[in-house]
Amino acid sequence: LGKRITGAVSGLVRSDVVDDKALDNMLKEICAALLEADVNVKLVQSLRKSIKHTVSASPPGPQRKRLIQSSVFNELVALVDPQTDNLFKPKKGRSNIIMFVGLQGSGKTTTCTKLARWYQARGFKSCLVCADTFRAGAFDQLKQNATKAKIPYYGSYTETDPVRVSKEGVDKFRKEKFEIIIVDTSGRHRQEEELFREMVQIHEAVKPDQTIMVLDSSIGQAAEAQSRAFKESANFGAIVLTKTDGSAQGGGAISAVAATKTPIVFLGTGEHLLDLEKFDPKRFVARLLGMGDVQGLVEHVQSLKLDQKDAMKHISEGVFTVRDLRDQLGNIMKMGPLSKMAGMIPGLSQMTQGMDDEEGSNKLKRMVYICDSMNDRELDSDGKCFVNQPTRMTRIARGSGTSVREVEDVLTQHRMMAGMAKNIAKMKKAGAGLPGMG
Ligand code: GDP
Ligand code: MG
Repeated sequence: LGKRITGAVSGLVRSDVVDDKALDNMLKEICAALLEADVNVKLVQSLRKSIKHTVSASPPGPQRKRLIQSSVFNELVALVDPQTDNLFKPKKGRSNIIMFVGLQGSGKTTTCTKLARWYQARGFKSCLVCADTFRAGAFDQLKQNATKAKIPYYGSYTETDPVRVSKEGVDKFRKEKFEIIIVDTSGRHRQEEELFREMVQIHEAVKPDQTIMVLDSSIGQAAEAQSRAFKESANFGAIVLTKTDGSAQGGGAISAVAATKTPIVFLGTGEHLLDLEKFDPKRFVARLLGMGDVQGLVEHVQSLKLDQKDAMKHISEGVFTVRDLRDQLGNIMKMGPLSKMAGMIPGLSQMTQGMDDEEGSNKLKRMVYICDSMNDRELDSDGKCFVNQPTRMTRIARGSGTSVREVEDVLTQHRMMAGMAKNIAKMKKAGAGLPGMG
């Protein structure tokens, strides 16, 4: 998808004048790419209309190019961002029940554990309940995952009624004052109606504060019907899109959001416990547009100043927080092969010296996990709150599944960039301009 759309847009942009014929050709290309990526036909049509409407009102001069680029981007963002502002936020000091639904194999059990760990790392006492009594081995799988993540769990080898198991588990953990209780359900049944009936019953028994549908990003055109069916019986309030590390283009997810008016909240980006990312519509689209076209993405992201904005603003003021470092690392990872990208961050090429692309990007990933295990205060700090704080470092190493040594590496990298930011601000004040920047 990315390649074709980027191609259509940039091919057009090479010529100076964008007449109506060129515009029509471009729209045709984009729509073909979207359809190929399994985006719903009706959505594609409305997207086309909308872009055409926006663009044709402008004169065919140079500004028109920019308008085309931004409206393709914005329209795609609007498709994956239903703009609901009643997003679920768990509250500390009470039991928040989260129920997972979705087809077998979509990634529920894996994602349950990831999410429990995610909340755990943010200071919520979290646990898991296995209500999948249909599939043999389901409880063992959850048990194994939970043990690895050091998350308490509940389930049964003998009880066959999922409604009873889930009620027992939730009641038990409620009494024990757990703050996040995640209920994993089955995704298959002898018959489809039975699965949906079961979901309704579990829902009534545990009264979840949040229901999440897990969707495999390779679902394709079936996404619309499937998500509608789940919405009707389980009325989920959020979607987690899994396996985004695979080759699927994710067009189905766009249809699921549009059909159910429900936001995607997280992305599953791998099989590992830590492969969970908060969903960001702009980043998602930037990545979609930039796939297979690294240079294009870099330029595009720079022109949008997405995540760079705060970091750049901070740098010019001489401030560089740990969160700024995390954003920079995240950006780099999304942009492609490390060998090409590490050079963009000073000091990083030293830290990843001698590593191949895979080792290097693993290192980057772990650095991001470390940042993600910090709380907001730590992220927004200048890093000094870690000095002589071994328990704090240990907590973060544990939460991110890394070592204290690696946490120190992140802080070293941060210190170095913070020092640079200070120097840049000083030079700027002295009127010396920015070497190598503009
Ligand atoms: P469930 O049947 O819905 O509970 O699905 P599982 O959690 O058992 O996952 C099915 C398979 O998908 C397992 O092999 C997982 O390791 C894999 N899986 C889940 N999420 C992801 C992901 O984000 N990326 C990748 N690559 N694999 C995933
Ligand atoms: Mg499962």
